[in-house]
Order: sequence, then C-alpha cells, then structure tokens
Amino acid sequence: MLYLDHNATTPPLPAVVQAMADVMVEHWANPSSQHDAGQAARSLLQRAREQVAGFLGCQPAEIVFTSGATEANHLALRGAVGHGGRSGLVISAGEHAGVLKLAAQLGRQGVPLGLIGLGPDGGLKLDEADMLIGEGTSLVSVMAANNETGVLMPTAELARLAHARGALLHVDATQLIGKLPFDFSRSGADLVSVSAHKFGGPKGVGALIVRKGLNWPALFPGSQERGRRGGTENLPGIVGFGVAAAQHAWTSSNWHDRTARLAVLRDRFEAALKACCADVRVFGAGLPRLPQTSFLRLGQVHADLALKRLAELGACASSGSACSSGGQAPSAVLTAMGVTREEALCAVRLSFSPDTPETALLALAQDWPRCLADTLAPDTHIFTRIHTGVLA
Ligand code: PMP
Repeated sequence: MLYLDHNATTPPLPAVVQAMADVMVEHWANPSSQHDAGQAARSLLQRAREQVAGFLGCQPAEIVFTSGATEANHLALRGAVGHGGRSGLVISAGEHAGVLKLAAQLGRQGVPLGLIGLGPDGGLKLDEADMLIGEGTSLVSVMAANNETGVLMPTAELARLAHARGALLHVDATQLIGKLPFDFSRSGADLVSVSAHKFGGPKGVGALIVRKGLNWPALFPGSQERGRRGGTENLPGIVGFGVAAAQHAWTSSNWHDRTARLAVLRDRFEAALKACCADVRVFGAGLPRLPQTSFLRLGQVHADLALKRLAELGACASSGSACSSGGQAPSAVLTAMGVTREEALCAVRLSFSPDTPETALLALAQDWPRCLADTLAPDTHIFTRIHTGVLA
C-alpha cells in the first residue's frame, strides 16, 4: 500500500513501539506511587518530558501532557475564558473541527467570539485579525499550518497583534511539528498544542505547552501535571511521545535537506498530475505551505470516486470533505476560502513522508487520472498528447 495520508496519522516508529512495550511489561507502576517501582516509572515520565521539551524548545515544566491535541486545544480555549478578567476568543475560520465546535459551544454560552476569515489562497486575513482582536480578547487561537491545505499561518504577526492588546496567543502546531522546525521559545506563542501521532509517536497522547508564569486552570482538576491535568499518566504513550520527539530532534540537523527534498517530491507529483489532466486545482498552492501536503481536485471528479480509484491503484489518501450524519459536508477550510460546494466536494488530500517512494508516486500521478478518464470531461485529460510512453 502506498500510504499518502500522513496528515491524518503517521506509522509509529519502531523504537516508539519497542519503548512502549517495555513500559507496559516492566514499568506499569503508577508514577505517583512512593515505592521503587512507582519511582522508576516517575523517572521515565521525567525523561520523556525532557525529550519532548528538548525537541520543542520549551522547558520541561511548561509541558502539560494530555490525551492529544484535541484535549490540548480544549485546555487552551476553555482556560482562556475569564483569564485575566477577559473572555473573548478570536479564532480563524480554518481551525480544526474540535476548535470550531468548542468555540461555537462557548459562543452559545455567551463567550464573545471573533472569526478571522481566510483568503482565496488559504491564507489568514491579517487585516481582519487586526480588527477583531480588542481589549476584551483573552485568547487568539490559530493553527501553525492548516491540516488540509498545509498553508502556513502568520503566527509571529498574530503574536505581535495579540500581545499589543494584552491578549494571549495559542498556536495549534499539530500539523507543523515534525514536518518543519519549531522552537517554542522563539515562536511568540503563549500556549502550543501538539500531538504525538503526527510524527511517529502513538495516538492518544499530546501536550499543551503553557508558557512559564501563566497560571492555567485545569480541564480535569487533580494532582498530576502540577495540578494542570489530573488522572494517572498514560506512561506508555508519554514514553512513546518522548522517543518520537528524541528521534526527530536527532535528525533535526538536516531539516533543511529533508524539507527541500519533500517539497521537490510534492512539486514533481503535482506537475506530473497536471501533465496528465488539464484541470487540476491545487488548493493553497500560491502560499508557503507544508512541504509534503497536496490538497487538490482532479477535474470535477467527486472525492469519493477519486479516492476509490486511488485505492484500486493501491494508494490511500483522504477526502477534503468530512462525513457528517445524513450527508456530506464540504471542507470548512475550502468553504472559508470561498471555494464552491461542488468544487470542495472534489478535494482530495495527499500527504507524504520522507519515505514516500518517488517512482511509485510519479507513476500514480499518471495512472490516477487515466483511471478517471471516463469521468473527467473530454477536454480536461490530455492523454493523447502525452509522449512519455507510459500512457496510451
Ligand atoms: N489539530 C490539528 C491541526 C489536527 O490536524 C488534529 C488531528 N487531525 C488535531 C488538532 C487533533 O489531534 P488529536 O488526534 O491528537 O486529538
């Protein structure tokens, strides 16, 4: 199988699986227990905290381990309501469903909400942010990189805008971490969400980085995580998170090469698709974006069919549209970008990794439109003009 869905999740690294199995077999004691077995578990927890902090450029004490980025986002947004006597939240229209739904819920409870729009290229409308962030704003929350388009958001500018008005900045860096370098200490953010399974770690574990000095209220009060997240720690998950972080930190010296190689791979893939089909639209292509994300439509082919053909060719990716009960809703991100419902329902997201084999990917770029030839409008596929020898 050619796995092209790395923005949905990544395969756990072998060292992560091994470390987690070791914890489950040998270090299953509760890290809060005073006996030796508990203290051994506690030192593993501390080591993982240091590994994650080392990778993300924060202090170990700034990390609050959570069940993933969804919980981290909830911890950030809910904690901001009433913080410092302010309650307003300003988020972007392209946020993750968990953030959009939580904000809507808080809005119904009377929390003042501001929604920053996206431009047609998927970028954040900074002029709108400037208007929306005001004296009553407690928190501005945006993704570092959009999970669908991969477009990078102007978090440094937002940090300046937010701080100038006494508001905090929360960055959901779930899609960026592990794909591009990230350093909390230089990010300008006050709170950052991260999820381990997006970069070779296990599912069900993540963290909220809370800048030192911020007194942040818990979603689940208890004594663990310095009172900021109660509940017995998910030690196997946290250890796996630490190992994934350490492995990435170790390879980070060649970030530049890795990133450049992935961007070249993505661009070649998109160019090869365009060579086979005259009507390809790549969403977000006009702006800096994650090097391994291609969010596109082929002609007017519905995403379900496009994905079915991909599966027949042995590849898997995701649709840009989320299934909702009773029918299909187009992607909220594309809708915010002004893309029509019909076009949005055709969007397919392909996301690669440094291990994605180029030959297989380029072959797919030719075979995929060919399998859809009967569905693509006759003038959109240009197979007869192709002289590669691969296509008839
Ligand atoms: N934020 C973003 C930007 C994401 O892409 C995801 C995962 N799809 C999440 C939050 C949720 O992460 P988790 O699966 O760890 O809850």
